[in-house]
Amino acid sequence: MSDATAGASGLIDYEATLDCVHCGLCLPSCPTYQETGRESSSPRGRIYLMRGVAEQRLPLEGLVAEEMQLCLGCRACESACPAGVRYGHLLEGARAEIDARGARGRLRRLSERFLLRNLVGRRGSLRGFVAGLRLYQRSRLQAFMRKSRLLWLLPPLARADALLPRISSPHRPPAVVPALGRRRGRVAFFSGCLMPELFGATNAATVEVLVRNGFEVVVPEKQGCCGALQAHCGDLRGAERLRERNRLAFPSEGIDAIVVNSAGCSASLKECGDSLSGAVRDIAEFLADVGIEPPRGRLELRVAYDDPCHLLHGQRIADAPRALMRQIPGVELVDLPGHSDCCGAAGIYNLTQRRMASRLQDRKIEALRRTRPDVLATGNPGCLMQIAAGVRRARLPVEVLHPIDLLARAYAKESQLDF
Ligand code: SF4
Ligand code: SF4
Repeated sequence: MSDATAGASGLIDYEATLDCVHCGLCLPSCPTYQETGRESSSPRGRIYLMRGVAEQRLPLEGLVAEEMQLCLGCRACESACPAGVRYGHLLEGARAEIDARGARGRLRRLSERFLLRNLVGRRGSLRGFVAGLRLYQRSRLQAFMRKSRLLWLLPPLARADALLPRISSPHRPPAVVPALGRRRGRVAFFSGCLMPELFGATNAATVEVLVRNGFEVVVPEKQGCCGALQAHCGDLRGAERLRERNRLAFPSEGIDAIVVNSAGCSASLKECGDSLSGAVRDIAEFLADVGIEPPRGRLELRVAYDDPCHLLHGQRIADAPRALMRQIPGVELVDLPGHSDCCGAAGIYNLTQRRMASRLQDRKIEALRRTRPDVLATGNPGCLMQIAAGVRRARLPVEVLHPIDLLARAYAKESQLDF
């Protein structure tokens, strides 16, 4: 064994790498392979590299670590794979191995871990931080910083600033929100970490649509971040701690489902493999299953839908959001070229792999230029931020919304009709 391969912690699931039969059917669906044309940047190539590391033939440092970081974790390869290779699971193991063996920049690893554990993973810190950002936006300091180009002296900050959405007021619902009209059931709402702070209006819309359709909504106070970002970055222990908190926070009985409006979170919670997983439903999946009362309010809009990777590839949900939006009078759903390709958000990928993330963002913007919808709808906060940032940069007249925002708007218009 060479020094470079010494110290393997066995976090790569070697048996699972053997499921790959090297057929290459996944290659055309892989964005990093499409962009680079390199075998090592393809799913097949990456699995080969993981296997080489697990067999202690290849060093983890250098090429292997770089290719694992360049992977989006979008799991388009899983949808394409006829052999059922669990690529997402393999990638998490490989990244955890990289983390455990310190095979990538120490400063980057420590700062990433610190931010994910102490900012994203802690509600109080995140609330305080986003309150500061809200002030930054409302005091017009953001406008000044952008105009003066001072931010470009610190490129990582400029990148983060470009992604910031217009931050709505935080959403802090009561612990129980009663159903409106005839009660059809009771659900728990997983409100997420970033969603209530950055997308408070969307969380409010989610609760409104649920109660409007006869569901009492309970919102457990002690819930927190799902741990997806931590797991994707290789911090499996940090992710497990957050999952344990949610296991304790959510009731295991007396609810029909745990409803989640962020595709990355619902995919992650479903894959925990414990008492929580079986109850988790993405909001679109849940509403399409139980059926909604079609809104009567009209929205005269051309809407293009972009599939979040972790909804389409992670949960195989494609029809439900489209079916819901089709029930809104006046909405015309238009096909967005490349709607099933990753937009480049991929957790914090757009902060850590700027070039590749921008290339994928450019593809979405080009598709929007050709399609010219009024609204781009997508059901994940990372995708909402990444696509909206591209839309702002390209100055396109496109509003970027969650499908549930559109449903809530249509119901709100309906109440105006009733006056
Ligand atoms: S997860 Fe996405 S980027 Fe990574 S190998 Fe699979 S298809 Fe390619
Ligand atoms: S499609 Fe599946 S089996 Fe074929 S090369 Fe890709 S990961 Fe391997």
